[in-house]
Amino acid sequence: MPRAIIGRVTVTKKPETLPAPASWGMTARGIPWEYAAAPESTDHVAIRPEYGLFIGNEFRPSRPRDTFDVINPATEEHLARVARASKADVNRAVVAARAAHDNVWSRLPGSERAKYLYRIARIMQERSREFAVVETMNSGKPIKESRDVDVPLAAAHFFYYAGWADKLEYAFPGRTPRSLGVAAQIIPWNFPLLMLAWKIAPALAAGNTVILKPASTTPLTACLFADVVRQADLPPGVVNIITGPGEIGMELVRHPDVNKVAFTGSTAVGKMLARAVAGSRKKVTLELGGKAANIVFDDAPLDQAIEGIINGIYFNQGEVCCAGSRLFVQESIYEPLLDKLKARLSTLRVGDPLDKNTDVGAINSAGQLAKIAELVQSGIDEGAEIFQPDCVLPDRGFFFRPTLFTGVSQSHRIAQEEIFGPVLSVLTFRTPEEAIEKANNTPYGLSAGVWTEKGSRIFKMVAAMKAGVVWANTFNRFDPTSPFGGYKESGYGREGGIHGLGAYLDLSADGANGR
Ligand code: NDP
Repeated sequence: MPRAIIGRVTVTKKPETLPAPASWGMTARGIPWEYAAAPESTDHVAIRPEYGLFIGNEFRPSRPRDTFDVINPATEEHLARVARASKADVNRAVVAARAAHDNVWSRLPGSERAKYLYRIARIMQERSREFAVVETMNSGKPIKESRDVDVPLAAAHFFYYAGWADKLEYAFPGRTPRSLGVAAQIIPWNFPLLMLAWKIAPALAAGNTVILKPASTTPLTACLFADVVRQADLPPGVVNIITGPGEIGMELVRHPDVNKVAFTGSTAVGKMLARAVAGSRKKVTLELGGKAANIVFDDAPLDQAIEGIINGIYFNQGEVCCAGSRLFVQESIYEPLLDKLKARLSTLRVGDPLDKNTDVGAINSAGQLAKIAELVQSGIDEGAEIFQPDCVLPDRGFFFRPTLFTGVSQSHRIAQEEIFGPVLSVLTFRTPEEAIEKANNTPYGLSAGVWTEKGSRIFKMVAAMKAGVVWANTFNRFDPTSPFGGYKESGYGREGGIHGLGAYLDLSADGANGR
């Protein structure tokens, strides 16, 4: 059997590639024209050689002193060394957060807490270019996404929750909202700064103090955020950031003086955390994996749907928990839709994430690249047809071609498991009922999309689909005012909006919830 290189991984079947449509004047790379390189400058960014643990507004070395390396996944170059926290460091952080909560932060009037949050939001806006470049260098995501999505949305979360800080009684009428205490927050590597904002902004608005553990591959924007905390003059101990492996996250979650646990990441780790806190009074929010259905009916505006499908699965290299990784197409439009989709896929620019023209950047780590390749190989082995555009990948770094599979059946691993990469599985349906049944045939339930001109059909589909978020005639839209979270193995609890605020408050009559 012929062998082909996909990303930097060998697979055992050559993918179909798209011949360039002559009318587009396509180049050898399968895109209509070559863009000149437009690299974002890194001159204004100063990544320090080493970052300590941020506890009590100071960067401190871990005890015993230990560090690990952080690299740029697009170049495999070393970026910085970061402290590896120990169990004793976790305790130091919890002690600092507890003191700050009990003595300062929970006692401040909401209007005072709001001022700090507004200050953070404004500083993030002022330093947005710096944040965007560091985020892209550390995560591999295209600069146009970190610049236009991650950083502005992160700032927007601080603005939004600043607005609630002095209105908690209005948000929850008839209750006496109280802070929970110390929040342990563990975030993943796909949206490092945005997930930080989703976690820290509502927690602080509600009067809690936090200890945040970023993912080991992407701690640098959290370290930069620590600088913002000092610049905003937050009282010491209100925000603490500790870096280290997953086990350190578990130590944090298990710590007896932690009152709230918020986690975003894999379903496997989410289950471990749920078991670890079972029987305690800790309040928990888990935002886990997904395998979203993106359903296109035959009356949908096709060109608009194509853009939604592309954005749904290739945004952030598909490393998105709510990615539209299963496309369901009504049979009558299968062929025209697929032709358009393949043509559009072939125009995506894959490469240097710091180039402003890049659509698909680097995969976050060698481990994630290997996982994607393994699942893609399983799709080929199970008999699905692979299509990839004929684009040239950089020699170094972790890259994977945008991929789509046809001939996928419901039982294939690529239709069941979260790939977390730029890989789309295309399936078909005839009736709305069949679409609903197939869409819900997954252990996950985080998000979904529906494309149709019929308003009544949108309402029918939204009501029938077991997904926390259903987008209609759009996909991957985020807003701080809108709650986000899952059903089934996608987790529980909501982040964003008033729901996300409530997750950080004790709303019980006796004030005993979460303590
Ligand atoms: P993980 O769930 O392992 O990582 C997410 C966060 O949890 C990281 O900060 C990680 O730290 C931490 N963590 C890891 N193990 C533990 C533990 N035992 N106790 C407490 N915290 C822990 O995701 P992976 O990075 O391993 O990715 C694996 C798969 O998970 C992906 O392929 C994807 O399918 C899914 N995923 C889903 C995400 C989502 O947004 N829903 C986000 C990320 C991944 P550290 O980085 O130090 O290991």
